[in-house]
Amino acid sequence: MELPELTLRLPDWMQAQLQGPVPVLKTPEEQVRFAIELSRQNVIHGTGGPFGAAVFDEDGTLVAPGVNLVVSQGCSILHGEMVALAMAQQVVGRHDLSDGGHHRYRLAVSAEPCAMCLGALPWSGIRELVYAALDADVRAIGFDEGDKPTAWQQALERRGIEVTGGVMREEAVVVLNQYLATGGRLY
Ligand SMILES: [Zn+2]
Repeated sequence: MELPELTLRLPDWMQAQLQGPVPVLKTPEEQVRFAIELSRQNVIHGTGGPFGAAVFDEDGTLVAPGVNLVVSQGCSILHGEMVALAMAQQVVGRHDLSDGGHHRYRLAVSAEPCAMCLGALPWSGIRELVYAALDADVRAIGFDEGDKPTAWQQALERRGIEVTGGVMREEAVVVLNQYLATGGRLY
């Protein structure tokens, strides 16, 4: 058999959008707004589900963006969070973004992580998670978030990952509804 090669490629519109200086966004609100904007562009361009994510360093500099690429790349693990984390790890050149606890990177997401993505966080070296839309908002438009432990936030915090949810929630829900209204695929 011929073994395939897996290439992770962000949509062309994102490269075009990020021409110029690297964005520096200081507050969690600004960073979440950036992730929501990525989710909106992903819907507008039809390149994936209504989910965006981005990793920022402690100065607020964008390390890497991500969007949901599940359908467009035919790969179930390519949620926005997973894409942003994988891209950030490529940028910094290591699997542990914290580099043994020396860095405090934040993952900003347009919606609450699903069972897979929250499971991936402890090994990513991310130290803060901020998200907009809630689990219930995502399920309300028909997405399956998987079987999540009820106390998942506390579990992450015990592992040293700070969690804040519901930041800019209404803006994120607008994009979820936009995706539904334009007949986006649910999975
Ligand atoms: Zn996910």
